[in-house]
Order: sequence, then C-alpha cells, then structure tokens
Amino acid sequence: MENNKKLISIVSPAYNEEKNVPLMVEEVKKVMGDLQKDYDFEYILVNDGSMDNTWEAIVNESKKDERIKGLCFSRNFGHQMALTAGLDHAKGDAVIYCDSDLQQPPEIFPKLIKEWEEGSDVVHTKRLETEGEPFFKKLMSKYFYKFVNMFSSVKMEEGMADFKLLDRKVLYKITSMREHNRFLRGIVPWVGFNSSVVEYNAKKRLYGKPSYNFKRNLSFAKSGILAFSVKPLKYIGYLGLLLIVLSTPVLVYGGVTIFILQRRFLSPNFLIGIFNTFLMGLVLSSLGIIALYIHYIYYEVMNRPLYIVADKTFENEKQ
Ligand code: UDP
Ligand code: MG
Repeated sequence: MENNKKLISIVSPAYNEEKNVPLMVEEVKKVMGDLQKDYDFEYILVNDGSMDNTWEAIVNESKKDERIKGLCFSRNFGHQMALTAGLDHAKGDAVIYCDSDLQQPPEIFPKLIKEWEEGSDVVHTKRLETEGEPFFKKLMSKYFYKFVNMFSSVKMEEGMADFKLLDRKVLYKITSMREHNRFLRGIVPWVGFNSSVVEYNAKKRLYGKPSYNFKRNLSFAKSGILAFSVKPLKYIGYLGLLLIVLSTPVLVYGGVTIFILQRRFLSPNFLIGIFNTFLMGLVLSSLGIIALYIHYIYYEVMNRPLYIVADKTFENEKQ
C-alpha cells in the first residue's frame, strides 16, 4: 500500500521521569492521533541513566505501540547528549524535540507542524510563562540569557528552550556536528535556515523534581559561553592592554625625571609598583593573544561545516 503520509519524529530525553513517561506518551499519541490523516509519527524516548524505573516505563510503552521507541544510556550523560542520541535516531521528515515532563505541552505540536508546512525549516518555541514557577527561577532564567549573551557570539533569546521543530535537512546538519561540548540552543541558530517562532505557556511539572538546579544552570551557562566564543579571555586581554596604556606614561615620566633631569618627583618604590603593573599588563595581553589562537584551534577541532547551502538551482554532477 502506498503511504504518502509524512513522518514526524518526536524526541524526548528522560531522566527520572517514570511517572511522566506514560502521561507524555499518552499525550503525544492523542495529539498525533488527531493528525493521523496526514502524518505518521515515531516517538523516541532516551533514558539518560535514570535512577528510577523510567526505562521500564519506556519499554512497557514500546511493547504496547511500536511507534514508541526507547534508547537506554549506560549512565547519565546529560540532557544535551540524550537529545543528541534521540536526534541521531530520528527518521522523520521533521523532528520535534521536547522535554518529557509535560512542561512543554505536546498540544502545540500541530502549530509547529503548520509553521513547518508553511516553509519554516526551524520552528523555535518561546515560553511566555511557567505555571507556578518560583520567582527565583524566573529571575535566574532571565539573567541566564542576559549573561550568556554578554559573552557569547550566538544570540540566544530568553524562554527559548530545547523545544523545537527541525526540518530533516537541518537535522542532518546538526547530527553531522559532533562537538563534545554540545549546546543545542546555540547550534540550531548557528546552522541557520528559515525560522519562525511559536509561543506557548509552560505547564507545571506534575511529577518528579526538576534536575536543573543552580549549579547545573551555571555549568550550562559556562558551556554556552565556551562553545561559542573566547570573549572572556579576550576581555582579560583588553584589561592587560589597558594596564599597559595606563602605566606606560607614568614610567616614561619617572624615567625622564630620574635619568635625564636627575630629579626625583616620584619615589622609586612607586615606580617599581607601576613597573609591576606594566609587566602584569604585558602578561594579561599575551593571554588575550593566546586566547585568539585557542579560539582558532577550538574551531578546527570541532570540525564544523565551513558553510551550509540551503538551496540550489542545479543538480550535483559530482556525487
Ligand atoms: N534530563 C536528562 N538528563 C539529565 C537531566 C535532565 O535527560 O541529566 C531531561 C529531563 O528528563 C527533562 C529535560 O531533560 O525531560 C529537562 O529537565 P528538567 O525538567 O529537570 O529541567 P527544567 O525543565 O527545570 O529546565
Ligand atoms: Mg522541566
């Protein structure tokens, strides 16, 4: 039988989500069931070394429905790696990835798919508000993006989490990027292509605890910054230059008065202090230069594609 339906892959990482997995699967089936006239779906759940019965829950669901697929990590590799594994296995014409705690509601999948059908290769989502989120967390996520954007060369918007739809061609580009320090929120905008944004209200977590605490967020910010720029080290280099610029005139003035005019307006101790500052400036600015080399080495090692072609008017002769 001919099947003209498009396949939508859905990918969710799951860490200690035993109670959420069945709910999530049910919700996805319901939402995708409404679209079954035009779309088939597969739902890939990646168990990221959970300590509870998440894997059993996934296996259980996959026995009931072959469209539900499970991957089980040997240990906890982290959210970004779990997402990557799921994306690697997705076979769909488009892939939607979201958390498995129902905070990012599958209800809006149809909207994402509609945007995709209308020509967006990447559909971002933007969280408007999270039900019952503590004030501190709201504040944190606001400043998190401000902070990352200050240092990073890829701009990331507040409320844009790992909940997106990607066209297959974008997916292939992203899965071909094998850098270890993975920060999908930065990689997706880096890859480019037509994009649009769908807004949604986030839900409250029903079961289980969020595993992102302050420490994890900090380390997330760190990898967001380090994956996309050497700005922190560059700033140190600028500081070094500033020290040189400030200390040089004082040194010249001191040198001239002591050695040429043979008079002492500045004490030798003071001048030694300034000389030290000058040397410090030299060291810091050298660090800045080294940072630039590291930057280049880092990009070489990551081995990202040099460019990405979105479309062309001719067929490839060379294969
Ligand atoms: N997660 C994961 N591995 C981890 C931590 C989290 O796969 O080490 C998953 C988790 O199951 C959820 C998603 O990543 O589906 C987001 O985690 P969480 O809900 O704790 O983060 P928050 O929503 O608070 O940002
Ligand atoms: Mg969550």
